[in-house]
Amino acid sequence: MREIFKYTEDYLKKTEKRRNNMYVCPKCSKPIAAIRPFVEYSLFCMSCQKIGNLFELVRLFEKDKNYLTDEEIEQYLKEFLKLDITTEIEIDNALDFYEKNGFDLVPIIKNGKIPIEKEWTTKEHKNKKEWKDWLNNGLNIGIKTGKCSNVIVIDFDGEIPEELSKSNTLKQKTKNGMHFFFRYDSDLPKTRIDKLKIDIENNGGQVVAYPSIVEDCKRTINLEEISELPNDWKKFILSKINKRTTLNLEEEKKFEINEDFHEDLIKEGNRHHIMMSLGGILRRKLNMYDTTFVLDILNKKLSSPSMSRIEFDNIVKSLEKYTSYDDVEIAKKILDYIRRCPDQEATAADIQFGLYLKKAEVDKTLGYLLKEEYIIKKNRTFHLLQKVDWRDTFMGESNPIKFKMPYFHDSATFRDGDMLVIGAKAKVGKTHIAMNIIKRLVAQGIKPYYACLESGSRFPIISQSLALKEGDYWNSLKFKPESSELKENSITIIDWLLPGDYANTDKIFAHLSNQLIRFGGLLIVFVQIRDSNAEFFAKDMVAFFPSFVCKYLYNDDSDGSTGYFKIEYMRESVDNRKKLSIPCKYDMFSKELKRLDEIGD
Ligand SMILES: [Zn+2]
Repeated sequence: MREIFKYTEDYLKKTEKRRNNMYVCPKCSKPIAAIRPFVEYSLFCMSCQKIGNLFELVRLFEKDKNYLTDEEIEQYLKEFLKLDITTEIEIDNALDFYEKNGFDLVPIIKNGKIPIEKEWTTKEHKNKKEWKDWLNNGLNIGIKTGKCSNVIVIDFDGEIPEELSKSNTLKQKTKNGMHFFFRYDSDLPKTRIDKLKIDIENNGGQVVAYPSIVEDCKRTINLEEISELPNDWKKFILSKINKRTTLNLEEEKKFEINEDFHEDLIKEGNRHHIMMSLGGILRRKLNMYDTTFVLDILNKKLSSPSMSRIEFDNIVKSLEKYTSYDDVEIAKKILDYIRRCPDQEATAADIQFGLYLKKAEVDKTLGYLLKEEYIIKKNRTFHLLQKVDWRDTFMGESNPIKFKMPYFHDSATFRDGDMLVIGAKAKVGKTHIAMNIIKRLVAQGIKPYYACLESGSRFPIISQSLALKEGDYWNSLKFKPESSELKENSITIIDWLLPGDYANTDKIFAHLSNQLIRFGGLLIVFVQIRDSNAEFFAKDMVAFFPSFVCKYLYNDDSDGSTGYFKIEYMRESVDNRKKLSIPCKYDMFSKELKRLDEIGD
């Protein structure tokens, strides 16, 4: 997915397309659309279905951008929304520059600095298309230094001398320092000058280059022409290199003489296994850099023979993967923990002490879970937003439902994400109808969610009369129609919206629609209608959001045992009839509500 899609909401807000919790649909102009984060942050309209991703939205909303390419729109959005993102056009410019200068690149592990190819120094990659493939697969890229790319790089970790910072040449800013590129010069060796915190990269080296991201940090590059290394600088560096080698040799000697190393402690046969296991243990306390440092000493001082550079790099690479696996385990534990908490909410401290984790670990993982939208933060508590396996169980968009909708299956086609509204007068047994719908769903092997909003409801008794048993359906007395989450891909029945809620009806319906678009499934909402004329209280809203609207009315002369569903609106009627009535009979003894055409003679 393109990074820019995450800013769909920002774009719609900035262009004032937001109404309540929903967005204006560019096709039908009604404020009944919502963003689906898991479908590339595309916009979905209750009526027009899928509208499209951010690029398509810009084309629909801004007619003058109709003929722009995706890349041009991305560039426009970066400036319009003032985003800190790297656009395709910018990436292309840099890669063109690398190609023009004859750079030889190497694929690098994601978010890191290690080449993924074995024997990478002997291979050549000078093709822009190949580089783009690496980047599209999430890899980083490195520029090989030395003769093959006709460059050397001076890599400053610390403060940069003023004379050099002014030099006009290709420069790349890194997290803590700066890379200066100069034309290839065979006199300088690839080496490190500790005292100056300088690395000289020449033959056999590489530097990770823009647009790579290293440890979540972006690099920037100026794309200026590469100059020759100034002469005084060359002299200065060469003088420092000589000093450094003698000093280090002495240090190393001291090290070896004073310490009694068993230089053959680790043998070739189990070398790999020991290094991996030790690395895993070290990683629990040390970061990757420190772990690599310790393993390097073990490899040089205790292994007989020492591993080759490539073999060692592979161990480091495996350890990095192993670590991200650890993080996933912690994330799962934290989600499980929150799920088990009362009201499925917990503070960072709850989690830390409940799971015996370190604060830093908890903070880091919560940050990840927030970013990935598994949880949300309200004040100091974290709430579950969805199941971990949401993506695995995500149904396709707007598929027809796979079960028979009780009472209405032959009147209309129902789709994933639909909302049904059933109106009834105050005295009409809405809970009886709701329980009958549940019974018919349970009979099809479905376990629906029943949200009871009426205090002192008799649903447990009605439920028993209908021979429903515990475990057949979920129920809750705590559902809040204006803020509660729907369960993904499930059927929820709300019994019923209180008259006191009608002032907020637009907000409630907007919230529920948003939830449906986001999590799919099906929602049946019971609402009260006026006793006098049997009209809906919030007529506008009822006309707006649902795909199916009906009322249950008693026959005029009835004691409540005969009545009918009066269908007032169907988005997709089966035989194109717009209105329809379905006569029913209620059995006082079995509590069953049956369609007349279901009852034999
Ligand atoms: Zn629409």
